[in-house]
Amino acid sequence: MSTEIYLDGNATSAVLPAAIDAAIDTMGGRFGNPSSTHAAGLKAKAVLDEARACALRLLGVGEGRLMFNSGATEGIQTAVLSALIGLRERRSRGEAVGSLLLYGATEHKAVPESLAHWNRLLGLELTLQALPVDGDGAHDLDMLRQLAAQAALVCTMAANNETGVVTDLAAIEGVLIETNSAAYWMVDCVQALGKLDLQLSSTRIDYAPFSGHKLYAPKGVGMLYVRKGAPFTPLIMGGGQESGQRSGTENMAGIAALGTVLAALERGDTFRSQGELCAFRARLADSLRAALPGVVFNNPFDKSLPTTLNFSVPGLSSRELMDVFDAAQVRVSAGSACSSSKAAPSYVLDAMRLPLWRSAGAIRMSFGPLADDATIAAACARIERCGAALRASCLIPSERTAVPHDGLLQLGVEGACSWMVLDAASRSCIVIDPLPDAAARIESYVRCQNYQVLAIVSTLPNAGRGMLIDALGRHFDRHAEADEYGWPAAAKSVTLENGATVGALQIGKQTLASLGCGAGDELRAYLLGTTDGERLPAASVRFAFSARPAQQALRAVSADQTLLCPTRDERNQFCTSMSSEAAAEGDAHLDSAALDAFLQAHPDAVLIDVREPYEFAATFTPGPAGRVAQSVPLNRLAEHAAEWLRGNQSPLIFFCRSGNRSVKAAQLLRRLGHPQSYSLTGGLALAPLPLAA
Ligand code: PLP
Repeated sequence: MSTEIYLDGNATSAVLPAAIDAAIDTMGGRFGNPSSTHAAGLKAKAVLDEARACALRLLGVGEGRLMFNSGATEGIQTAVLSALIGLRERRSRGEAVGSLLLYGATEHKAVPESLAHWNRLLGLELTLQALPVDGDGAHDLDMLRQLAAQAALVCTMAANNETGVVTDLAAIEGVLIETNSAAYWMVDCVQALGKLDLQLSSTRIDYAPFSGHKLYAPKGVGMLYVRKGAPFTPLIMGGGQESGQRSGTENMAGIAALGTVLAALERGDTFRSQGELCAFRARLADSLRAALPGVVFNNPFDKSLPTTLNFSVPGLSSRELMDVFDAAQVRVSAGSACSSSKAAPSYVLDAMRLPLWRSAGAIRMSFGPLADDATIAAACARIERCGAALRASCLIPSERTAVPHDGLLQLGVEGACSWMVLDAASRSCIVIDPLPDAAARIESYVRCQNYQVLAIVSTLPNAGRGMLIDALGRHFDRHAEADEYGWPAAAKSVTLENGATVGALQIGKQTLASLGCGAGDELRAYLLGTTDGERLPAASVRFAFSARPAQQALRAVSADQTLLCPTRDERNQFCTSMSSEAAAEGDAHLDSAALDAFLQAHPDAVLIDVREPYEFAATFTPGPAGRVAQSVPLNRLAEHAAEWLRGNQSPLIFFCRSGNRSVKAAQLLRRLGHPQSYSLTGGLALAPLPLAA
């Protein structure tokens, strides 16, 4: 059994083993073309006929049309094209047709995109209008009632792919009938197949697209239902297959597999009952509540498919949640498109008018009706592991006191960064350049570590510290006097290498010195090191923090090996040094196939996992090549770089999930003068998955 737990059923599903067998059969023994009249063709045709007959019964197609095609996106095109051509014909006959192409605000993008495309191509100049939904994702029926007379086509999905929210199709049908609307009606049934009972010909629905790969059939096969009497125009013309409705030799492997899934649905002996699926959802939801304090569910369970959970966790981005679940090998998806730094909010949750943090931080966990008890139990255990990993990293509140952290922490937000100097022994810290966007993270970190913040200093004057000060409460003495850089009036002084005497703050055994720089001393830089009596010699300065790293002012007071920590970091360099500007050349990539050989040639090589600590903690499989790895997340690189640069430099092999983060680490170390630094190409995602014992 694979260690991977797949909980992304709304994106796609594995293929039912019996469906794989059926597909293989059509590629082996029954490979014929169903249009051929010889025996090989007839055998293939029998498979096609059987699959269709099953679909007709199961979906209650009645006298309507049902054609196989490549999937729902094609089905949506065909439906939209057919309806628009029908409208054009009605218009040219002088009949009144509506002017609106009305679609639910939470429809899959395939719907509005197809409407806009065909409307433009056919030059119909109809108006696209989104039909709003309420906070539960239900369509605004009053608005539909108002617009129904002007609607030419209405598109409403049976169940939503992000939230699983089920549409009240009967209510929509009621409004269309009651308003005597002449609009055509398309219902995207992709997420409903196998989960909701659909007897199509007994409804007013004109078009219903389906997709195989959302219910245990392969990708590239689907179906379209068209009500008897609804306009129909083929999208693809050619050899006349599918009774001339969809030309092209049939995808027999896909159809045979889909037919097998439909037959299993019809027999009712393969998939879980609604009750069992609801119980699975309840167990997952309980585990999420226990593991992730404050979790909120974005879909109302009583109005949603039991197979979808959509949730957000205060203080955590969807990126962080995705990463920790992925590290625990639980495959879920972000409820929204996720860019490298900030997640774009979900348009579905936005349409439900959820606050931005929920819409941008949402995670979708979805399973299929084949789910079993063991998988759900294992998923619950992994969720608990993820929660523990996040608590230990201070990303979510923890009742137990976290292990105190020491050293430097970098918190980056869109090219700028804040730094924290942490001292475990005295449980204190100093914050340098607190960004407003990092304030919540700094605050929860300080609370979780139970640290006292000695100072909140900035490299620029009057750089707004108020929000953080308010948030820190008793962890910071807000009444202590400070200048416009946040530098405490009570600071002592220290003499630097160039003889200048500057302000100094003690944090544990280290000293943070403040010096003016920039043309008119309008900027501040900070030096961190250990003093020698009243002096801070250049050689003892380990770190220098400044908005512009290669500042002349720093040269006289720091050493070649001092790490320069920028408070602007557009290029994700993390840190640099005076001597590193002449970057080391060479290829920093190490192919995972070459890793074993590399480790044999360099037994002293060190493997470094640069993922976040909660990803490291959630991982239960060994590191690459079965070796134990050291955990040094990117924001702790500066802290460790000095140590790696010292003495005999062992080769460093950085890795992460995909190779994106580790390549930055390898390049940084090369820049700093460690040419034997590599990044494992493709990261853990491309390393072969270990099997469970
Ligand atoms: N409609 C919905 C609701 C979906 O979830 C999807 C797939 O994500 C589609 C349409 C597109 O389906 P297909 O992948 O078969 O083209």
